[in-house]
Amino acid sequence: MFDIQEIRSQFSILDREVNGKPLVYLDNAATSQKPNSVLEVCHAYYTELNANVHRGIHTLSQLATEEMELSRRKIQKFINAEHDFEVIFTKGTTEGLNLIAYILTQKLQKDDEIIISYLEHHSNIVPWQMLCERTGARLRVIPIDENGVLQLDYLDQYLSEKTKVVSVNQVSNALGIVNPIEEIIAKTRKNSDAYIVIDGAQSAPHFDIDVQKMDCDFFVFSGHKMYAPMGTGILYGKREILEALPPFHGGGEMIATCSFEGTTYAGLPFKYEAGTPNVGGNIALGAAVDFMNRVGRENIQNHENALLEYAQRQLLEIEGLKVYGEKAKRTGVVSFNLEGVGIASDVGMILDKMGIAVRTGHHCTQPIMSFFNIAGTVRASFAVYNTFEEIDRLVEGVKKAQRMLG
Ligand SMILES: *Cc1c(COP(=O)(O)O)cnc(C)c1O
Repeated sequence: MFDIQEIRSQFSILDREVNGKPLVYLDNAATSQKPNSVLEVCHAYYTELNANVHRGIHTLSQLATEEMELSRRKIQKFINAEHDFEVIFTKGTTEGLNLIAYILTQKLQKDDEIIISYLEHHSNIVPWQMLCERTGARLRVIPIDENGVLQLDYLDQYLSEKTKVVSVNQVSNALGIVNPIEEIIAKTRKNSDAYIVIDGAQSAPHFDIDVQKMDCDFFVFSGHKMYAPMGTGILYGKREILEALPPFHGGGEMIATCSFEGTTYAGLPFKYEAGTPNVGGNIALGAAVDFMNRVGRENIQNHENALLEYAQRQLLEIEGLKVYGEKAKRTGVVSFNLEGVGIASDVGMILDKMGIAVRTGHHCTQPIMSFFNIAGTVRASFAVYNTFEEIDRLVEGVKKAQRMLG
């Protein structure tokens, strides 16, 4: 049974007021709120368990290690990885993507090509540009049409034996567009030997993820966008690939032996987890997975899709309101502007006075904004605890903003 009030009761922050009004939190694509079960795990870690992992013989160190490894196995199940050691703890999607771009350095040469898309977050653009600078490789970008949909015939055109990496997001954070990654992966496998990287920052919070069925080489996401604490994230990589590639950071935890003559590296996953990890956060990420499993990922997705449909239908009734990617397949996000209203942030400010939290601006996706010839959008993004009444308040707020600014 999906009981929205029961779910909301697990998020204490939703009871607070902002500017004298009950909070309506619609900035979930930037970060979600955390359920009390996750917060309690963080608190319990520091009050009962805190110790450094993997190196202590003492009881607390062993208990902390067991809890973190249990969490790794929960995440393994969550994405259906074949092995738990294919799940690497990071501090988020940005770190995961930079790690991958760095360890692939030796695999690329001058004139090789990296394919990304127009819909990428800056963190799936800049690390590849930096890799191009190191190696002399070139970036190719799959364009979008006026609906924000990727034009995959360009992928066909770009793929060749020069293609070394294809990196795309499963869901766009700026527009909520769901990209056809099954098709992108199939085409890539057929026409190149490229490494396939999927940015799952906006899909892991909403969808069932099966990295084996997907057949990607890497899959990265952030904990904080799926009910876990900030500073947590996951890099999944296929065993053979991670075993063959060099480490990223050097330091403690990641060595087998270390001497001044030379160092040998630890096996997976530790080879990619140098230094002291965010132990409490990583354990809490497992608790966030438990929360999502308890609610049911299909329930989460159905509810969020219903919210999106309801929001879009009502917003489109407002004259002069444009939804970007209106006709594309989407999830969790509605991104829009009001005609005649110069900047999105003015709308955001008025909504904030009404207790409604949305994001305005370019959403770390300036190329998309350039494509539509705009500086930014107003973005409302949904999580499992949002309600239809909150959407009504958003719509009312947007109408008020239009009256005030129009
Ligand atoms: C948020 C986001 C990122 C960056 O994630 P961080 O948690 O800030 O590291 C990358 N890609 C997409 C699609 C995102 O939504």
